[in-house]
Amino acid sequence: MDSPEEKIDCLPNNPGVYLFKDAQGTVLYVGKAGNIRRRAASYFQRSEEKDAKTLAMLEKVADIETIVTHTEKEALILENNLIKAHHPRYNIKLRDDKNYPCLRLSLEEEFPTLSIVRRIKKGPSLYFGPYPSATSLKEALRLIRRLFPIRTCRDARFSNRIRPCINYEMGRCSGPCSGKIDQVQYGEMIHQARMFLEGSDKDLLERLKRKMEKESEDLHFESAAKIRDQIEHIKKVIEKQKIVSRDFVDQDVIGFHREDHTVVIHPLFVRAGKILGGKGFAFPSTGIPDEEVLSSFLRQYYREDRFIPERILIPKSIPEQGLAEEWLTELKGKRVRILAPRKGDKKALLQMARDNAEKFLIAKTDYEEERGKLLGALKEQLHLAKIPRRIEAFDISNLQGGYAAGSMVFFEDGKPNKDRYRHFRIKTVEGADDYGMMYEVLLRRYRKAVEKNDLPDLVLLDGGRGQLNVGQEVFKELRIKGVDLLSLAKARRAGDRRFHPEKPGEKVFHPQYKELIFFGEQSPLLRFLDQIRDEAHRFAIAYHKKLRKKGMIRSALGEIRGIGRDREKALLNHFGSLERIKKANVEELTQAPKITPSLAGKLYAFFHSGQAP
Ligand code: SF4
Repeated sequence: MDSPEEKIDCLPNNPGVYLFKDAQGTVLYVGKAGNIRRRAASYFQRSEEKDAKTLAMLEKVADIETIVTHTEKEALILENNLIKAHHPRYNIKLRDDKNYPCLRLSLEEEFPTLSIVRRIKKGPSLYFGPYPSATSLKEALRLIRRLFPIRTCRDARFSNRIRPCINYEMGRCSGPCSGKIDQVQYGEMIHQARMFLEGSDKDLLERLKRKMEKESEDLHFESAAKIRDQIEHIKKVIEKQKIVSRDFVDQDVIGFHREDHTVVIHPLFVRAGKILGGKGFAFPSTGIPDEEVLSSFLRQYYREDRFIPERILIPKSIPEQGLAEEWLTELKGKRVRILAPRKGDKKALLQMARDNAEKFLIAKTDYEEERGKLLGALKEQLHLAKIPRRIEAFDISNLQGGYAAGSMVFFEDGKPNKDRYRHFRIKTVEGADDYGMMYEVLLRRYRKAVEKNDLPDLVLLDGGRGQLNVGQEVFKELRIKGVDLLSLAKARRAGDRRFHPEKPGEKVFHPQYKELIFFGEQSPLLRFLDQIRDEAHRFAIAYHKKLRKKGMIRSALGEIRGIGRDREKALLNHFGSLERIKKANVEELTQAPKITPSLAGKLYAFFHSGQAP
């Protein structure tokens, strides 16, 4: 086989994507280019100009694969998709599937609302944000609603109201549902809110002042006084907001900081001249030049359903900047500019974003140090074989008897990694057999993990000695060694038969120790383990809700004529489980609320005639 250098001359001179692969065929790096051959060749020329990490990558390259595209823009999109598919070690990979919350002003409605959304949709609605945290957004929403009493109810509720709700009584809504404000007046208020959100404070205050004077001339003193208070309030709010830019264009200012082995990119969101906040992202420094890291970041960060500002400030020009602008303009449906300013206010903003990137790295390093200590302490105190960098935790949820699912969450270096969370629909176990279900889930998960050589450091089960035994059985069956296994049982409350007054906290079961390991309630180790278990539980519940929404969950009771959802719920509440309902006689069934003797007979017949699943 030709060496990569020898292959260069045969590469196409077209736009497209190139993939550097190692001898095993693993993709090391994906890049796009206007001319594939020229771009790929540049890597193998003048090695003295390359840094150590790029050289290390080039040493591993055994093959170059190319995909030709019609245009450079197509190459840009393809490169992005290939990075997501292959996770190449030397590309930056933005782990950011979260959508940050924005405010949406629904201009398509007769009486628009202001709501929190996470996805941007094309259409007449206006979006403001994104806000870096739910707290800052809620604060903004509360403030705007105080200044402008916009309705908060959903459309279905709005159209069914005859009288206004409590929000009107409390002055939080102007009551459009029941004619307390007409569409023109409401529209005027929406316009004012929009001016405020867009930063046209001066014009807004002028407008309100004129309105106040008019009300006063018309002898509507009460209304004039309300507007006066509103003006004062807005002035106070404006005073508190620090203006960082006078041109009021929405812009993201991309801070960039490289230190030792890490690159931090920190966009600051500047909206209507004010900073809403920012978000930091850290990547391992792979030797790829700053310009390429920035370019790759922008392409992964901005997407169709995310807020794209009109201007993006970057610290250095990036390759194919015009092309990136064109692509973003298409995504937004409005002109987007990418600028790399060298002086003035914009440069100062970039410096501020850079400082934030640096601070983010310091905070991250401190946090990681703390997490490192915590994981080390966990190893010591729980007598583990390894530091538990990769933890998998399981929760079995068995709502309404017959429908069960297992959930697995994954924590890496002390942080949840949601890409690796999994659900398991129980396939082989019937009834409320917790151990059987745990066995099925663990066997399925670890059979695959053994095949793929993808075992964690620690497996954490929700439960006691019984669950732990199941885990051990599965590990024995699959011949898994070197993976720690623990189960965590909830604290018992006073009154519980097994409550131990001297050891009231949660307890950990370890396969090699008969003695349980107890933690005090304030123990940071326990808080961490609790966090993992709660996350597994939350994930399980979310799955059940999803299934229920899809109509997939109904207990066997739903199959009986005359047993609707209300009766089903009443029965389960009364007996506690499907198993107990099955065991009840007709008389006992009749005791349950909403169950007539005839229905009780039907129920009994269903469970005792072989019809029931
Ligand atoms: S007062 Fe009417 S319009 Fe306002 S929130 Fe209540 S129901 Fe909706």
